[in-house]
Amino acid sequence: MTDGTDRNRSLKVVGLGKEYPTPAAPLVVLKDVSLEMSPGDTLAIVGPSGSGKSTLLNILGTLDHPSAGTVRFGEIDPFSLQESGLARFRSEHVGFIFQDHHLLPQCTALENVLLPRIALEGKAGDAVGRAKELLRLVGIDQRETHFPSELSGGERQRVAVARAMMNAPGLLLCDEPTGNLDAVNAKAIGELLASVAGTIRAILIVVTHSPILAATFSKQMEMREGLLV
Ligand code: ADP
Ligand code: MG
Repeated sequence: MTDGTDRNRSLKVVGLGKEYPTPAAPLVVLKDVSLEMSPGDTLAIVGPSGSGKSTLLNILGTLDHPSAGTVRFGEIDPFSLQESGLARFRSEHVGFIFQDHHLLPQCTALENVLLPRIALEGKAGDAVGRAKELLRLVGIDQRETHFPSELSGGERQRVAVARAMMNAPGLLLCDEPTGNLDAVNAKAIGELLASVAGTIRAILIVVTHSPILAATFSKQMEMREGLLV
């Protein structure tokens, strides 16, 4: 857990726009996206392929820069930071979960969960103890020493959830996290995400094609023609 109060872990997005230059006219992907969320809020974003869902998540996670508008996380305007400050911001405050687990194949489940802590060198605390506790929380503490190739798809995604929580981020961003899972595992991962976000009082945003998964979260919005409606 972090020492932050709820106030300095809330998210405020105003008038966000994103366009990509093309030889003809600029390609407008996000037009005017505004969003406010508090710690513990959970949001599902649905919408057709190509509507800008991943673009929005990548900007919120500061992997990409907006063309217009502002993002504030508590008192921080991440896009005012230099590259090194931005990397630190991401390590401290953002957890990502993708459709593909993106686990390192040569590392065990426990080592994969420990990885984000390397980026935060100097952070006090028992990292191994926390990683083990997180694996217990996601229900696979019996698989600590397994490599990703020795885990099922659902188990790999559980490791990815534990890894995303390692630095107790205020913002958990999930891009089609159950896209590769069967219905039973998809439901379990959805419920796990909602429950862990509550446990660490993170803001949770999940992009999904599944109406069933979307219904797991407290709020649902649709990305349509560059707007979040
Ligand atoms: P979604 O996740 O909703 O399927 P994306 O956010 O991935 O959609 O993409 C939205 C649109 O932006 C698509 O039309 C895609 O081709 C375009 N796009 C994404 N990344 C780039 C890029 N780096 N350069 C140009 N166009 C891009
Ligand atoms: Mg996408």
